[in-house]
Amino acid sequence: MDIKDLYRDVILDHNRRPRNFGPLEPADVSVEGFNPLCGDRLTLRLRMADGKIADIRFDGQGCAISTASASLMTEAVKGLTRSQALALFDRVHRLLTDEAACPDDLGKLAALSGIREFPARVKCASLCWHTLASALHSTAAGALPAVSTE
Ligand code: ZN
Repeated sequence: MDIKDLYRDVILDHNRRPRNFGPLEPADVSVEGFNPLCGDRLTLRLRMADGKIADIRFDGQGCAISTASASLMTEAVKGLTRSQALALFDRVHRLLTDEAACPDDLGKLAALSGIREFPARVKCASLCWHTLASALHSTAAGALPAVSTE
């Protein structure tokens, strides 16, 4: 499938019907993310068990790309360990910014490589991933810094 078709289909689908959208109670970690370039805001909530992401949900308001990216991300990282999820963050970050990055074996996340055509929108797609990384790095449930892509 052509990456442009995949990009359009996946972004439309996940924006129209975002997966894992809404509150998560109880949650171990809650982190807010903000992309001032576009105005995207999201709150990511995680529940960890046995070192894995047992559940993850998001809510907030953002553009189609930020919503679809967060929806795709929650599907992709559920069940992963902290280090697996951070490794996936690295791969997706490269996919968004590096023309040479290979999307093979990334499943639906490969669609995100279509965003390389729109450099101004990269932060819309990466916001949720930066927010996830912040959530994973913070083990304590205390006050967490808000994430900004600025
Ligand atoms: Zn946006």
